[in-house]
Amino acid sequence: MKLIFLGPPGAGKGTLAVKAVEILNVPHISTGAIFRAAIAAQSPLGLKVKAIIDSGRLVDDETTIELVKERLAQSDAQSGYILDGFPRTIPQAEALETFSKADKVVNFDIPDTAVVERLSGRRVCRNCGVNYHTIFNKPKQDGVCDACGGEIYTREDDKEEAVQKRLTVYREQTAPLIDYYRKKGLLVDVDASPQVDEVVNNFKKALDIN
Ligand code: ADP
Ligand code: ADP
Ligand code: ZN
Repeated sequence: MKLIFLGPPGAGKGTLAVKAVEILNVPHISTGAIFRAAIAAQSPLGLKVKAIIDSGRLVDDETTIELVKERLAQSDAQSGYILDGFPRTIPQAEALETFSKADKVVNFDIPDTAVVERLSGRRVCRNCGVNYHTIFNKPKQDGVCDACGGEIYTREDDKEEAVQKRLTVYREQTAPLIDYYRKKGLLVDVDASPQVDEVVNNFKKALDIN
């Protein structure tokens, strides 16, 4: 199954994607995670996008489209994928259609207040990228990743100023994709506000997965 996860920053896309890949056995492709890995490696891509991402703005369409096009050409993505965080603009959605056709678009339905609460408490493992939350999903040991023992940190773009910028960017550039995909008959709404297990159930029901 080829799925797009669409929703505001902090809606729980990455968290659900980790669960969904176990159910569907497809790769989880997160453009944000790819960019963060490039930044950590100080590659040319990473150096180009670091300041943009830290400030909460979007990386340019051309760079992002090229990245996804190359990733979707790899063998593990031929029979399915979860695209998490792409497309984020109408031009990205139009470009995607020229190289891959998604089966469904999962729209994460969640109020702004919940999003701010989730983003402000989000912590991430610097080594493996796993997400935690200071209230909803604490690591066993403070500041240490359960999965790999890596250091847990606060993303620069999860600090308050960048969060407001990202919500504005979401409303202006990404939210129009909801109508875009609804008109194409691809949109599936999932209530993303309850706790994780319940969101997983909502997702399975919405996609008719057992
Ligand atoms: P979140 O999990 O908060 O939704 P992501 O990890 O998906 O954030 O993305 C982090 C940042 O990476 C974005 O704020 C943006 O700067 C950049 N980014 C990720 N995906 C895209 C995209 N499709 N187009 C442009 N920029 C992107
Ligand atoms: P996104 O990928 O959409 O930006 P994440 O999956 O990174 O969102 O989740 C944002 C934060 O909210 C993380 O700290 C995560 O642990 C937490 N979180 C995710 N889903 C839920 C949920 N259903 N209930 C409470 N907290 C959640
Ligand atoms: Zn880790």
